[in-house]
Amino acid sequence: MVMTQRIAVLGATGSIGDSTLAILAAQPQYTVYALSGYHRLDKLFELCKQFLPKRVSVPTAAVDDFAQRLSTAGLDIDVVGGEQGLIDIAVDSQTDTVVAAIVGAAGLPSTLAAARAGKRILLANKEALVMAGQVMINAVKMHNATLLPLDSEHNAIFQCLPLAIQQDNTQIHQLEHGVRKLWLTASGGPFLQQSFEQMQQASVAQAVKHPNWSMGQKISVDSATMMNKGLELIEACHLFDLTEDKINVVIHPQSIIHSMVEYSDGSFLAQLGSPDMKTPIAHALSYPNRIESGSQPLDLYALSGLEFIKPDLQKFACLRLARQAMQSGTQATIVLNAANEIAVAAFLDGQIRLTDIADINEQALNDIQVPPLTETADIEDILTIDKIARHLTDKLVAKLN
Ligand code: NDP
Ligand code: MG
Repeated sequence: MVMTQRIAVLGATGSIGDSTLAILAAQPQYTVYALSGYHRLDKLFELCKQFLPKRVSVPTAAVDDFAQRLSTAGLDIDVVGGEQGLIDIAVDSQTDTVVAAIVGAAGLPSTLAAARAGKRILLANKEALVMAGQVMINAVKMHNATLLPLDSEHNAIFQCLPLAIQQDNTQIHQLEHGVRKLWLTASGGPFLQQSFEQMQQASVAQAVKHPNWSMGQKISVDSATMMNKGLELIEACHLFDLTEDKINVVIHPQSIIHSMVEYSDGSFLAQLGSPDMKTPIAHALSYPNRIESGSQPLDLYALSGLEFIKPDLQKFACLRLARQAMQSGTQATIVLNAANEIAVAAFLDGQIRLTDIADINEQALNDIQVPPLTETADIEDILTIDKIARHLTDKLVAKLN
C-alpha cells in the first residue's frame, strides 16, 4: 500500500503556495493536511473548500470570523491563529512535510519549529536561513529533520551534487567530493539592459514585472535590485556549508540553467528547465523519486542561445552588500535582511525610489549597532537584532522622505 504524505503548506495563498497546490491537486499520493494565509483570506477560504485540509492558520484577529465562515459552509476545519498557530501546524504529529513558503522573517519561527520537530521541510522562505542559518542547520541535524531547497538555484545545485552529499543534510565536504565552486545563475531582473538612471525612475509596476518568473511582490523587487541573489548567496552558504568566496554569481538572462556545480576536474554540472517553480517543488516533494510537475517541458530546438554576464556590482550594490554581510557574520546578515524588508515595503508603498533600497541597506549594514551574538545564540537573540534593525531602518526611510 502506498502511504499518503500529509503536507502543510504555510504561505498557501502566495505564489509558491499556488505552484505547490497545483502539483498536490494532481498527485493523489499527497494529502493537504494544513494551509495558512495572511491577508488573502477569501482565497484561503476557496482553498479550504477545494482541498478540505484538517487545519488552517490565519492572523489571530481573524480566527473567529474565519472559523464561523467555514462552519457556515459546512466545513469542519480547525482554525488556529498567529505565529503560534503556524508553529502548532508545523510541529503537529500528523504533519509529515512542511512547505515553508511564507515571505520574510515572518516565516522563521514556524520553519525552525518544523526543524526541531524533525519534519521534512521544503524550504522556499530563504529569509529564515539568512537570519538564522546556523541555528536552522543545527536544528535540522540534531532533530534528524530533512531540509530540501525549493529555491530554484539551490534546488538545481542540490540536484547537481553527488548523492552522498544530498543524503547528508545537503552539506558539502569539498575536498572529499571535489566540489570547486557553486555558480548561482541570476536573470538580472527587469533592469538588466537599462541604465542606473532609468532604474532610479522605475515605477512599482515596472519593478515587479520580472522578465522570466512570476512571483510575489517582495521577491520580485528583490530580483530587480538583485538583493534576491544576495540573499540566495547567503542561503547557499548555509545550505551547503561553504564560505561566500566559493560561490560565484553569473547573470544568465534566459533563466534556463538554474545553477551549476563546478568540480575540480573541470566539469560543470547544470540543471536546466523552463523557468517554472513547479519543477523544483515537484523535485523536492517526491525526492528521491520523480513525479510530473505540470511545467512546460523545455523546447531545446526553440532556444536561440544562452548568455552569461558578470554582474555589475555598482548598479546592483545589494549583491556586494550580501557578500560583505556574509563575511561579517550572522548579526550583519540579520540586519541586512531586516533593512531590506523595510526598504522594499517602503518602495512598494511609494515612499522611496527603487535605487534607494541599496542605499538604505548599505547605511543599515554599516551604521546600525546591535548586540553581539554568542555561539549559543538562539532565535530570541536573532529576533531582538531583527527588531532593532527594523526600528532603525524605519528612521532611515523617514529621513529620506
Ligand atoms: P507571496 O507574497 O506570493 O506569498 C507569501 C505568503 O506568505 C502568502 O501566503 C502570504 O499570505 C503569507 N504571509 C505574508 N506575510 C505573512 C505574515 N506576516 N505571517 C504569515 N504569513 C504571511 O510570496 P512568494 O510565494 O513569491 O514567496 C514566498 C517565499 O518563497 C519568499 O521567501 C520568497 O523569497 C521565496 N521564493 C519564492 C519564489 C517564487 O517564485 N515566488 C522562488 C524562490 C523562493 P497572504 O497572501 O494571504 O497575505
Ligand atoms: Mg531563486
